Amino acid sequence: MNKLDIEEIVRKEIVDTVLKTQEFIVAGNWKMNKTKQEVKSFLKDIKDYDFGSKNTVIVTPPSPYLYLFEEELRYSSVLYGVQNVFPKESGAYTGEVSIDMAKDFGCKYAIVGHSERRSLFGECNEFASKKVRILLQNNITPILCIGENLEQRKQGDYKQFLVTQIVEGLARIGEEDIKKVIIAYEPIWAIGTGETASPDQVEELHVFLRSFLVERYGEHIGKDVPLLYGGSVKPANVKQLALAQSVSGFLIGGASLDAQSFIKINDILNGN
Ligand code: PEP
Repeated sequence: MNKLDIEEIVRKEIVDTVLKTQEFIVAGNWKMNKTKQEVKSFLKDIKDYDFGSKNTVIVTPPSPYLYLFEEELRYSSVLYGVQNVFPKESGAYTGEVSIDMAKDFGCKYAIVGHSERRSLFGECNEFASKKVRILLQNNITPILCIGENLEQRKQGDYKQFLVTQIVEGLARIGEEDIKKVIIAYEPIWAIGTGETASPDQVEELHVFLRSFLVERYGEHIGKDVPLLYGGSVKPANVKQLALAQSVSGFLIGGASLDAQSFIKINDILNGN
């Protein structure tokens, strides 16, 4: 056997080990998509599927369909959440979804500060931090999204921008609670564009963010905060991205809409 063959066998073994042992978080963000029939058909496909127990599998549908998730996923290992919440208990907030409503339907997660909410609805870090705080008080895990746009990346000052999004998004949160937040790094230029950050770019950024978290919040907190990557993740690229250092999982838009592609991604992240 020549040296290249041996290297290939060793590399494959390392990949298999990572995929079979590392615990990933796999969260689907459906955004404003699907009809009731389509939701039912997706749930039928995933409900009895064996996702294994290693990874945490989450879907965030549009809120009007949460009742179907509650009905269908009662005995499933698949968890679910909301794409957004309003940081008040109740009241005159037309069109908003409260945390109690999310809890009523069994939601365990809530996306906060997605770039679409920031750019289309003007949501800022301070507003995101209010949501993070009230979610934590209610035992719902916030998935705090951060990410730079193309212009910021080209200008080169985007790392400071990301750090500010984290610091301000986690403002006034007790140290132990910081561990309960999931951070999703989603470069805006890679969301819904088909353009994925390369595994090297993802690794560089995740290692940078991990180092920042350790430096800022101490090792016992910073090393445990899950760091997801999001941006055009699909079955064809998820394996390479999963090998990037400090990636704890993925936030997936488009490719989470189709049950078979969502299952395929999960299979890959189980080493199957
Ligand atoms: C997202 O919206 O969070 C996302 C990552 O979308 P996509 O996978 O479609 O790029």
